Amino acid sequence: MKIYLAKHCGFCFGVKRAIKIARETAAKYENVYIKGDLVHNEDVCKSIEESGIKRTDSLESLPKGSNVIIKAHGEPLKTYKCLKLMGLNIVDATCPMVKDIHKKAQELEEKGYQVVIIGDRNHEETKGILGNIASGAIIENKDEVLKFKDGLKDKIGVLCQSTQTLENVTATMHELSKQTEELLFINTICNPTRLRQKEIEKLSSKCDAVLIVGSKKSANTKRLYEAAKKINKSSFWIMSEKINKNHFRKFKSVGIIGGASTPVEVLQKIAGGLNDL
Ligand code: SF4
Repeated sequence: MKIYLAKHCGFCFGVKRAIKIARETAAKYENVYIKGDLVHNEDVCKSIEESGIKRTDSLESLPKGSNVIIKAHGEPLKTYKCLKLMGLNIVDATCPMVKDIHKKAQELEEKGYQVVIIGDRNHEETKGILGNIASGAIIENKDEVLKFKDGLKDKIGVLCQSTQTLENVTATMHELSKQTEELLFINTICNPTRLRQKEIEKLSSKCDAVLIVGSKKSANTKRLYEAAKKINKSSFWIMSEKINKNHFRKFKSVGIIGGASTPVEVLQKIAGGLNDL
């Protein structure tokens, strides 16, 4: 069996940075909390908690003097305001690419654009972007444009969730262009996402089977899987190195890629295991 491990795999720089910030904070302070998941990978979050960082969903209950880490996907402005009002120390691990989307959304709003974000409505990143401007809308795909059409204004500025596919964004933009007079688009798909999306197309075409490794919560892993499945029916979304190797015996070549928060070591273990077949 020939194994192709993706060139672009392992933690993206935003995830690496967030983990580094979290570990340094845990080493420096005692009362360290994080609201939600630092990144979308269960094992990484578990190891972060083991380093002494406590996970919380309720900021109000945090004791005085606490240090609060902001996760890689970012937070709405109200979270920062609440933490400041409580006098807590904010340690911001938001990915700089996500911060940049917040800034662009604010600039568009200042210039009088209605901000539209193409992305998953229930994802923390899009909620955070929306929560950094006065108003705006999240549209998931082209089919939703018609539903929103009465709420759309004549001057729209569009941004996208960093892990969107260009395919979905292009199709949604095409529908939006029919509904407004002025449409400005800023492509905010991040570079690590673009590189992986290009690579999954190549891997899915050249390999008999493809393994996409990452948490079911991970938006970028989900999109890698969807892209692979369109090209190669033998595409499998797995969460860890614990796989039934026998299932893959029949394939002559297997491609392996991970989401942005999947450690490269997990992919290497899978590759090693398959190599032994
Ligand atoms: S996937 Fe992109 S936006 Fe998300 S953490 Fe990584 S670099 Fe940042």
